[in-house]
Amino acid sequence: MLAVKQWMQLILGGLVYYLCARFGMLLFSLQPSNITLLWLASGVGLILVLRVGGLALPVIFLVSLLANYPGMRHEGALWQSWHVLIAAAADTLVAFLAARFLKGKLPAGLQRASDLARFSFFVCFLPTAIGGLLIVLNLAWGGYIPSTEAAGLLRNLILSDSLGILLIYPLYQAWPAQLPHGREWGWVLANLLFCGVLLALDIWGVNGWFYFILPGLFFLVFRVPVGGVYLALLLAVAAIVALSAKQLGPFSELSAEEAHFMLQGFVFSTTYVSLSLALKYHHFLETDASGQHWQREALHDPLTGLLNRRGFTPLLANEHQRAMRSLRPSALALIDIDHFKKINDRYGHPEGDYVLQVLAKVLSTQLRDIDSPARVGGEEFAILFPESSAAQGVLVLERVRQHLATHPLRLAGETVTVTFSAGVVEFAGGTEGVEQLFEAADRSPYTAKASGRNRSVMAT
Ligand code: GH3
Ligand code: MG
Ligand code: MG
Repeated sequence: MLAVKQWMQLILGGLVYYLCARFGMLLFSLQPSNITLLWLASGVGLILVLRVGGLALPVIFLVSLLANYPGMRHEGALWQSWHVLIAAAADTLVAFLAARFLKGKLPAGLQRASDLARFSFFVCFLPTAIGGLLIVLNLAWGGYIPSTEAAGLLRNLILSDSLGILLIYPLYQAWPAQLPHGREWGWVLANLLFCGVLLALDIWGVNGWFYFILPGLFFLVFRVPVGGVYLALLLAVAAIVALSAKQLGPFSELSAEEAHFMLQGFVFSTTYVSLSLALKYHHFLETDASGQHWQREALHDPLTGLLNRRGFTPLLANEHQRAMRSLRPSALALIDIDHFKKINDRYGHPEGDYVLQVLAKVLSTQLRDIDSPARVGGEEFAILFPESSAAQGVLVLERVRQHLATHPLRLAGETVTVTFSAGVVEFAGGTEGVEQLFEAADRSPYTAKASGRNRSVMAT
């Protein structure tokens, strides 16, 4: 049983299909026959089957019948109805096959630019070629077209139906998660305005301006999410086809056959190139963002958000290099919390974690902007003081110690003052490597512990 929502989708989808089909015949049609240059209904049919399933097929059949009947009816001959029925069946078959092949060949949909070849062959070309062949044979048999026009008509049907799928399906898939936000809509509107100006120049000026829609779409690809590009593409292509089919603007001096093929070639290439570029760029942004995410994860400590040892080491190595060259000293401090085991034992491990987070927060707020704190061990923190002496480093650490002394923590209901012991090592044009430097700094808190804890000392 279908839910109410699906009935609504069926009715709404049927209506949209009918409108697209009528538009296809009236607005996008070759004169004087009613064969269309752009058949958006094929894309709508595909989506209807994807959403509602097999029950969409009789609806498509019925709606296509209603849409086709006025154009195909011949004076009084009742048997001609057969041809309208066959045309409607062919439209239904295209939607069925496209949905079937999409699910079989691309279960996740059109995700990557590299999916586009498979998508265009299985979802666009194959279904529309089969449906188109049926329609052309039907029209030739019914005497609607001379058999000499059959090949050209088949080519036209494949292109116009495929274009309908290529324009509608990606937009459906991008809706609503990949639509532009807020001010990004401004770029989409600007692009539509640009297309409008090009078409106006075509109608009232020199033919051919509309070829310049491609740079506009490229520009859009790098500014808005893919859904915005697809929407602009759909509207631009529909407008171009509508105007050209009415013999306005470009191509009006060529023979209809040549003009329409050239037009289809252009809009098809534009669609294809814009689609693949938008997909490719979208994928690039995604992998770039996830790469940055993992890079961040690898270099930071999840508990405190500070740099971890792996993130801190290159920073220290750089500063070490710089200090070697410039002979201006920098300082490295190592901090070890006093009696941290007791805190864990008495208040529990989670409260111990909380202490680590508080110290990280205090370091982040009390240090100067140029100083870099990191968590380099369980309850050990390092601080790089660039272009500073050990004495300046000790001064900054004293400020942190003061802060901790005057801001006791509440741990499991008790008031606890956390202290630490720290040592600061100064380094400049010496010969020691960054490893030795770190080892020296690592030993320095023990000097502070040996002389009574809760203090910062200078080490060598
Ligand atoms: P000292 O004053 O001599 O430094 O005494 P201490 O108890 O701090 O001794 P030590 O530095 O050896 O103890 C480190 C303790 O830190 C041992 C370990 O259980 C604890 N620890 C290490 N990593 C974590 C952590 O991520 N969370 C918590 N809660 N405890 C940790
Ligand atoms: Mg320790
Ligand atoms: Mg300790």
